[in-house]
Amino acid sequence: QLSQRLMKVAEYVQQGAVVADIGSDHAYLPCHLVHIGTASRAVAGEIVKGPYESARKQVHEEGLNDKIVVRLAPGLEAVEPEDGVTAVTIAGMGGTLIASILAEGNHRLDGVERLILQPNIHAQAIRQWAVDNDWHIVAEDILKEKDKIYEIIVLEPSPHRVELDAKQLLFGPFLLKSRGETFKEKWQRESTQWKAIAERMDKAEETPDIRTKKEQLLQKIALMEEV
Ligand code: SAM
Repeated sequence: QLSQRLMKVAEYVQQGAVVADIGSDHAYLPCHLVHIGTASRAVAGEIVKGPYESARKQVHEEGLNDKIVVRLAPGLEAVEPEDGVTAVTIAGMGGTLIASILAEGNHRLDGVERLILQPNIHAQAIRQWAVDNDWHIVAEDILKEKDKIYEIIVLEPSPHRVELDAKQLLFGPFLLKSRGETFKEKWQRESTQWKAIAERMDKAEETPDIRTKKEQLLQKIALMEEV
């Protein structure tokens, strides 16, 4: 049984897509997408040998060798132009890592119509990458599973730069609009943490580095209180 988190990611993959799942681990997501008929074919990319072997085993056991190719490669290097990939999924990593995978493999995104990204933390890094690289957010989602809260960001290419303000970058333009219960819970949790950190910083000796970090934190707390 696939996690609710990956089920939710799967919901945003377009019908008939050729999917590249980067950091696929056991390749559960591409196997599911091919099984339910959403994806016609898929590439599962892994940078680490162990998970790569697990992915190969899984694809083989599910009888999907003719539909899913598993490649040992860093980030989007798993994608070849002849794959004709139209959707990329990257889930279960930090937003900063996801953004760096996209930045490094930007030239491999030609022909990709949709990115479905699920950062565990720091989704802001992905939104910033999107603004700077002419992708725009078409949907966002948030869910709680086993007491952890996850965000999903769906991007499509945009003919021009779509700016986001500080609040939209941090909270997400769509999530900010809907302000659901899980969204509120996430930011209440974060603000409790931020306040505790700010308090500890108050007690620490003030170096320029700590001062900058504290200013950033206070700025976030101020945005949070506004929202
Ligand atoms: N995507 C799956 C999920 O959401 O359940 C697995 C998430 S797992 C926590 C992260 C996986 O990404 C690991 O298997 C790790 O080896 C892989 N990974 C990390 N950095 C990567 C990179 N630059 N390129 C490809 N895979 C990477």
